[in-house]
Amino acid sequence: MDVTLCLTHACNLRCGYCYAGRKFSRRMSWDTARRALDFAFARTLETAAKTSREPVCQLGFFGGEPLLEWDLLRKSTEYALEATARLGIRLKRTVTTNLTLLDEPRADWLRDHGFHVGLSIDGNATMHDTLRRTSRGGPSHAACAGALRFFRGPDANGEAIIVLDPRNIHHLADSVGWLIGEGIRRISLNPNFTAGWSVETLEIWSEAYHRIGDLYAETFRSGDPVRINLFDGKIRARINGGYRPCDHCGFGESEIAVSAAGFFYPCERLVGDDTLVDLRIGDVKSGFHADARQRILSSRGNQVSECGDCPVRSRCVNWCGCVNYASTGFINQVPAIVCHHEKLSIHAADRIAELLFAERNPLFLQRFYGHLIDHSSVR
Ligand code: SF4
Ligand code: SF4
Repeated sequence: MDVTLCLTHACNLRCGYCYAGRKFSRRMSWDTARRALDFAFARTLETAAKTSREPVCQLGFFGGEPLLEWDLLRKSTEYALEATARLGIRLKRTVTTNLTLLDEPRADWLRDHGFHVGLSIDGNATMHDTLRRTSRGGPSHAACAGALRFFRGPDANGEAIIVLDPRNIHHLADSVGWLIGEGIRRISLNPNFTAGWSVETLEIWSEAYHRIGDLYAETFRSGDPVRINLFDGKIRARINGGYRPCDHCGFGESEIAVSAAGFFYPCERLVGDDTLVDLRIGDVKSGFHADARQRILSSRGNQVSECGDCPVRSRCVNWCGCVNYASTGFINQVPAIVCHHEKLSIHAADRIAELLFAERNPLFLQRFYGHLIDHSSVR
């Protein structure tokens, strides 16, 4: 079972699209962290015993800004490493940070401890400072961008996460270009589906994906290819005949997020300021609340009838419970903006994939067909 610890509700930024709710100084206690880890490891072993699969657990740290609780993050990690080594569980480690508190010793520590680091930065200063403001309302790009130097190159352990919003979408393509120029080779585009998208901003979004596709293709041609979640994901899903069950998230079943106070939620995006009582599925003291969890699990999936005969259904992320809930109030109702985005991103990814395939670009073929194609036969 994967577990994300939301170490604190505090944050030194006040981003305009933040879904983490009210900022206040509630931090997770060590006792809560330890209980949450013990719970996740016990469930991981139970599942492995039932399925005869290798026990694997992904431990994530989230907030607020989790690096405000650096000592607790370290202590929890050391505990998790010791416990999983003893129990025979393979432990993956992730943290999502706004970069403002990430100095070289911390970056080194995270690398040495095998972390994948989510780098929340909206690209160049113009885009980033539109919505990622400090608690005093000032710009934050200068405080974040310096830490990107710890994550340059294809083997870096970090991925830049850009949040797209109607208020910053005008700068998206330039921002992706800026990150590529900074040496970042993994970029994740994360739309704010709950924002009010006008016809004009939707058009700008569409143009931006077209331009980003060209940038993506150019990196393959230059021999230093970037990974961008929406292109890589949609291309892979096309080759595989759709998303596979393992591509879906574990939403309350094989994944929980734990609030600072110790309540369990199906996903870290739903923890907010820990007031969505209907979405709690347990707590560190009593474990899962069976009825509440069952109610959530049975309402997963996509119940939109229009999707039934949609030609791109197998490549559409219409199952994301937290996005659906945040936009429609229902876990199983996909909002129109997600439908729009999925069609847009599939179209953009297909255009680029067809170009690179026609060019027989060796790095493209290696990434997506490496196990299928003998390269000598396509050169
Ligand atoms: S850095 Fe993250 S938690 Fe803090 S305000 Fe921005 S989006 Fe919210
Ligand atoms: S693209 Fe739209 S209609 Fe098609 S499966 Fe996705 S949400 Fe449903």
